[in-house]
Amino acid sequence: MAVSLDIAHNSADPAAVSAVKSTPAIPRIVEDKPSLIGLNREELGKALATAGVPERQIRMRVNQMWHWLYVRGVSDFSKMSNVSKDLRTKLEFAFTIGRPEIVTEQISVDGTRKWLFRFPSRGAGKPVEVETVYIPEEDRGTLCISSQVGCTLTCTFCHTGTQMLVRNLTAEEVLAQLMLAKDLLNDFPDADAPEGGLGASTSNRRRITNLVMMGMGEPLYNFENVKKALLIASDGDGLSLSKRRITLSTSGVTPGIARTGDEIGCMLAISLHAVTDELRNTLVPINKKYNLETLLDACRNYPGVSNAKRITFEYVMLKDVNDSLQDAKKLVKLLAGIPAKINLLPFNPWPGSPYECSDWEQIERFADVVNAAGYASPIRTPRGRDIFAACGQLKSTSERLRKTEREALEKAQAEGKAQ
Ligand code: SAH
Ligand code: SF4
Repeated sequence: MAVSLDIAHNSADPAAVSAVKSTPAIPRIVEDKPSLIGLNREELGKALATAGVPERQIRMRVNQMWHWLYVRGVSDFSKMSNVSKDLRTKLEFAFTIGRPEIVTEQISVDGTRKWLFRFPSRGAGKPVEVETVYIPEEDRGTLCISSQVGCTLTCTFCHTGTQMLVRNLTAEEVLAQLMLAKDLLNDFPDADAPEGGLGASTSNRRRITNLVMMGMGEPLYNFENVKKALLIASDGDGLSLSKRRITLSTSGVTPGIARTGDEIGCMLAISLHAVTDELRNTLVPINKKYNLETLLDACRNYPGVSNAKRITFEYVMLKDVNDSLQDAKKLVKLLAGIPAKINLLPFNPWPGSPYECSDWEQIERFADVVNAAGYASPIRTPRGRDIFAACGQLKSTSERLRKTEREALEKAQAEGKAQ
């Protein structure tokens, strides 16, 4: 297949980026105040105590805040109608519950939305920009969130892998992607509705039913923050996403796999992409540290794994690289005994990418082998290609900004205006 992608819609091209037209007035994060978002109950209790909430009230207030923050989704203390005005003022003075800035929103012809969210630096370096993608389907709505800005790993087919790690996201920042996406999709009950009453969106079905950590970054290299955010997202008294509908995808950071099962308990996806160590060392270089045998052993022992709770193995289809029928047969053999699903990902090209996507007929032939071995092997339809939102295409502008700045500096230097 000739690789052709309409990169005019790439977010690097400001002309093609639709500015956010009708953003509702959503309060922004106040940079110099700590956020209450992303704290677990114990930390939230401690934070409330520092704002003067008496010890005997802490438990009750934590529950109250949890409901306002994660069930009603308020981003403004003044909406907390059953909290006294005096306490609301104290909280507002000490904390923020605002959202990141929405830099751009792009909507694909297939309904996929991609947002670029900007988080303040909070005193460390520059603000960072993060891409978050929403994929609506007939029976579900999936939000794909990021765990890092950039990535330390350098998988050769992945656009994020070409960007150096800028930094890990905090638990607040991981979770805020979900919160702001819910705001923008009207997926919280209307916070203005009477306490306990149902707001506008609850009469419809949920818009975000599934959460996948498949955006930028390697989630298991930011384990503590990802864990905290996912435990809040799945808390039954809050955002209430079922752990069966939360999937963490890893390139194979083997020591983090058992911890994911034990401490988070969500679904697991493995970016496999090759069936020999030799090829995987090139495509997914972390394989040099944790080879296929080590990785698949960790999968076999994944806490909670069963036929009802299978591990998803992702396999990107790269023309003449990993897409032979022999590869397909080896794949099936390799996964024998592991409760597994196989997801074939047509390669999503990006400008300068060194691969082509396999021919469609070859993907189908590959899928037939996998199917014949008893795996329902859905070929994942790429979504949001026109807005550069498909798997592995996310790349923050944080690096691009630096590049622009560098170019400006170089220009100024050439003109003798700077040292
Ligand atoms: N770092 C994690 C999660 C983010 S990547 C991981 O590697 O699993 C999410 C998925 O997109 C991974 O399976 C990754 O291998 C895949 N991917 C990356 N680049 C891609 C591309 N250009 N085309 C298709 N899939 C890609
Ligand atoms: Fe990082 Fe995942 Fe991309 Fe590899 S595929 S570079 S681990 S984001």
